[in-house]
Amino acid sequence: MHDKRSEISSLGEFGLINRINQYTTVHNPTSIKGIGDDTAVIDAGEEYILFSTDMLLEGIHFDLAYIPLQHLGYKAVAVNVSDIAAMNGRPEQITIGLGLSNRFSTEAIDSLYDGIRAACENFKVDLVGGDTSASASGLVISISILGRVKKDKVVYRSGAKPSDIICVTGDLGGAYMGLQVLEREKQVFLTNPEMQPDLEKYEYVVGRQLKPEARMDIIHDLAEWGIVPTSMIDISDGLASELLHVSSQSNVGVRIYEDKIPIDNETFDTAALEFNVDPITCALNGGEDYELLFTIRQADFEKIKNHADIQFIGYVHEDPKQNFMQSKMGAMVPLSAQGWDHFK
Ligand code: ADP
Ligand code: MG
Repeated sequence: MHDKRSEISSLGEFGLINRINQYTTVHNPTSIKGIGDDTAVIDAGEEYILFSTDMLLEGIHFDLAYIPLQHLGYKAVAVNVSDIAAMNGRPEQITIGLGLSNRFSTEAIDSLYDGIRAACENFKVDLVGGDTSASASGLVISISILGRVKKDKVVYRSGAKPSDIICVTGDLGGAYMGLQVLEREKQVFLTNPEMQPDLEKYEYVVGRQLKPEARMDIIHDLAEWGIVPTSMIDISDGLASELLHVSSQSNVGVRIYEDKIPIDNETFDTAALEFNVDPITCALNGGEDYELLFTIRQADFEKIKNHADIQFIGYVHEDPKQNFMQSKMGAMVPLSAQGWDHFK
């Protein structure tokens, strides 16, 4: 069965995960939800336990030339908390697997853990264990997280229903533009080490890349207003990709409106004026914003319509094959997970 050789790239990340999923058998009735959502869901009697792992690798997810270790520590925790938030849960414990090369000093590890501690403090999470090893290929940080949610409050990617309203928090595309700025400054520095980067003008977008926040504040607001979204996912890979996950898992279609997609002014100007890329493309396909995408019943709209940090970007309909963005000019642009070209 395994004698044929095919490249992983031909499957892609999601294809690979689907393949792993096909081989996976469930042995325990406590495994309520396995592969395929932001976290696994485990029956713990009165409540559900939420359980997930996210890994950050040097050279793949971060470059120590521009991310301070303190920020990296914070980010590694925040991206895990974000997955718990996406299930409408509260984070409780983390463990940390660390792979270290010998070029790290004790002080460097102290800085990394300063950031980890700051995130634990902010999200009220306890660091309860982990593992440490030498690494031949740079720094590896793998965090597992446990959270908790009441059984009637858990939110999956699969619950969106026709006529639900599609909501996103914060603004999108900033983290991607921040990365572009940091990459550019790094190249400038490599050619001329005398040049000090001037990042003041890009403070917001660079901050979005280096210091993402998990939106636990939104989870608390939703609870306060008595709203349980019908579906939810965190935006780690770009809005288009996450919308398509909701579409396929809920077996519904989505229609969003270009002019409703929230983009910060600094993101817009940096993209359009300096990098000559379409800000909408950054929002749709740029990753790492760690905002929340969720759907609500129309009946809940009144309760949150005035929230300053939630945008209503479209609605859910019946046909899972029809996933579109209506452009400002009125054209229907199909949503695709990558490489969306701006409609002129
Ligand atoms: P997220 O972006 O929310 O962290 P991913 O896209 O990384 O989610 O993963 C999607 C789903 O696939 C999750 O349920 C995750 O637990 C599962 N998954 C990812 N990688 C593996 C793996 N190597 N083995 C088993 N399950 C995996
Ligand atoms: Mg996620």
